[in-house]
Amino acid sequence: MTDALREQFDHYIGTLVTPEDDALRWIQQNAQHNNLPTISVQPVEGYLLGWLVRLVNAKKAVEIGTLAGYSGTWIARALPDDGKLITVEVSSKHADVARAGFERAGVESKVEIMQGAALEVLHKISPRGPFDFVFIDADKVSYPDYLAWSVENVRPGGLITAHNIYRHGQVLNPQDDGDRMIKAFAEQMAADARLDMMVLPLGDALAVARRK
Ligand code: SAH
Ligand code: MG
Repeated sequence: MTDALREQFDHYIGTLVTPEDDALRWIQQNAQHNNLPTISVQPVEGYLLGWLVRLVNAKKAVEIGTLAGYSGTWIARALPDDGKLITVEVSSKHADVARAGFERAGVESKVEIMQGAALEVLHKISPRGPFDFVFIDADKVSYPDYLAWSVENVRPGGLITAHNIYRHGQVLNPQDDGDRMIKAFAEQMAADARLDMMVLPLGDALAVARRK
C-alpha cells in the first residue's frame, strides 16, 4: 500500500470514530502559537489511546513525553472521574503550555504534570503504582529504559503502549540512534516473556503490550 493510500485510510478511520473537538484543536493551535514542534499523535491515534484506556478500565495512567498535552487529553478523558494521569515532561516550557491545554479541556483535576527527566521522575513515582496504562512517547533513545520501568510497574492485565514504532519508515533502514533504539525496543518488547505484544499500524504505528 502506498503512503498516500495509508494516509487516506487513517483519515477514513478518523471520519468514523474521531470527534476531535474545540479543546483538542485549541491545544494544537496553542502548541503552534508557542512554537512547539508539531510531533503529537494524530487524532485517530489519540482516539486509539483513549479506546485502549477504556478497554482495560485503566484508572492510573502514566505518559512519558507530554509536549502540549494533546495525547494526554485523549488519555485523561478516557479515565474515570477519580482516575489519574501522571504525565512526565523534561521541558518546563512544554509543561506550561500543556497545563493550559489540560485546563482548556477541563481535565486538569485528572492530570498531574511532573516536570523533569523521565527516568528520574519514573523512579520517584514507582511507589504510587502499580499502574494500569503507560504511554511512551519521549526521547527515542531511552525507549528500552522506559520499557524496563514499565514492565516492573504495570499491573497484570495492564497495557504498555509506545508511539512511533515505524519511525516514519526508518525502522526498516535505521539511520540514527533513535531509529536503532526504536527497533531494539520493539524487539525487546516482543521477546519479553512477561509481555504479549502487538503493533497497531495506524499513523506512525503504536506498540501495545499486555502485561501477563
Ligand atoms: N505525547 C505527545 C508528544 C510528545 S513529543 C503528544 O502526542 O501529544 C516528546 C516530548 O518528550 C517532548 O515534549 C520532549 O520535550 C519530551 N522529552 C524528551 N526527552 C525527555 C526526557 N528525557 N524526559 C521527559 N520528557 C522528555
Ligand atoms: Mg510520538
